Amino acid sequence: MTQAQRHIDPADEAALMESIDRWIDREVRPVVMYHDHNDIWPAALVEQMKDMGLFGATIGQDYGGLGLPATTYARIIARISSYWMAITGIVNSHLIMAAAVERFGTEAQKQEWLPKFASGEIRGGLALTEPNAGTDLQSIRSVAVRDGDDYVINGTKTWITNGVEGSCFAMLVKTDPKAEPRYKGMSFFIVPKGPGFEVGKKFEKLGYKAIDSAELNFIDYRVPAANLIGGVEGEGFFQATGGLELGRINVAARGVGLALGSLRLATEYAQVRETMGKPIAQHQAIQLKLGEMVTRAEAARLLVEQAAQAYDRGERCDMEAGMAKYFASEAAVRNSEEAMRIFGGYSYSKEYEIERYYRDALLMCIGEGTNEMQRMIIARQWLKRNPA
Ligand SMILES: Cc1cc2nc3c(=O)[nH]c(=O)nc-3n(C[C@H](O)[C@H](O)[C@H](O)COP(=O)(O)OP(=O)(O)OC[C@H]3O[C@@H](n4cnc5c(N)ncnc54)[C@H](O)[C@@H]3O)c2cc1C
Repeated sequence: MTQAQRHIDPADEAALMESIDRWIDREVRPVVMYHDHNDIWPAALVEQMKDMGLFGATIGQDYGGLGLPATTYARIIARISSYWMAITGIVNSHLIMAAAVERFGTEAQKQEWLPKFASGEIRGGLALTEPNAGTDLQSIRSVAVRDGDDYVINGTKTWITNGVEGSCFAMLVKTDPKAEPRYKGMSFFIVPKGPGFEVGKKFEKLGYKAIDSAELNFIDYRVPAANLIGGVEGEGFFQATGGLELGRINVAARGVGLALGSLRLATEYAQVRETMGKPIAQHQAIQLKLGEMVTRAEAARLLVEQAAQAYDRGERCDMEAGMAKYFASEAAVRNSEEAMRIFGGYSYSKEYEIERYYRDALLMCIGEGTNEMQRMIIARQWLKRNPA
């Protein structure tokens, strides 16, 4: 992807953000609690996101996308997440799949898949995790064996976002299970649903409701060799993890949204709830919380901006994306917890929204590489940049 050339006129970006704000106010806010509490997939909102071009937000204009820079995309994701984080997962996972094809696919693969991804005609996500392998991706067991013009895939993926509602995934498999080092035997495929591709159980979750997270089973599933991303075996590990920089910026942006949304709810509540004859916002104990919350949210926002700007310049930014993801997700958890305390007993009621932020925030510490791993990635890069 020629991310380095991505640019948007500030006036165009402002107009885009205004249209996102209008959509959130008119369409998203009135239905969030219904979808979250009942765990119902937001079909109407997905159609609206298609119309707004969000399924092609980061896909190049040559392939029918909006071609947005990562900075603009991160701002959009943070804004939506400050009202409902979960819905951004439908777009995010899909765009990471698209980014893999755009960055590493052959021209024929780009021409075939990207316009349909951009329009939302085909939606999907990323299938990396397996029951025995999340962080340690090199120990996946799914295998693809060449058979004529096809590969035959067997294996199980789990926790796959959009697994039920999506129809196409970027799937990491082993094409040479005996290879040493293990990553050399890994390949990345575009796998549309078809015979032998079955959706298994759908997970019941603490948060991230209304979005489908499912197990995917592949039993003698045939995929044309033309769907091997880049057309070469053995590149899959780098193709799959190469997309994680953008993925981490996206998760970080969601963390920023959750941190800001928790702050907004707490700020409103603290000014209307009274104890001892004055709004609780006038008590120093509450001000200390608000002071920390606004600082954390702003620091997280700036780290995401820094990482997204580096990505847009085409620079290696695993350290910046890691710092943004780590800090913003922890900021989301801390801010939502502090907001829960500010809401007192009402935080525990489903009649108020803050409990959703609390449930949703914890996921940000897990996805796109756990925060334990992020700190190790940050430290390794830091040491590399600062040799003794
Ligand atoms: C709601 C949800 C949606 C998801 N969506 C997707 C998706 O769309 N596609 C997809 O492929 N996956 C998806 N995942 C899976 C997610 O990416 C994994 O859960 C994540 O990578 C962690 O893997 P794991 O759960 O197997 O944990 P493990 O890898 O088993 O880790 C368990 C713990 O050990 C720690 N740990 C592991 N290795 C090390 C180490 N070397 N050093 C220090 N600590 C370590 C981890 O940080 C963690 O605390 C999703 C998960 C959830 C919960």
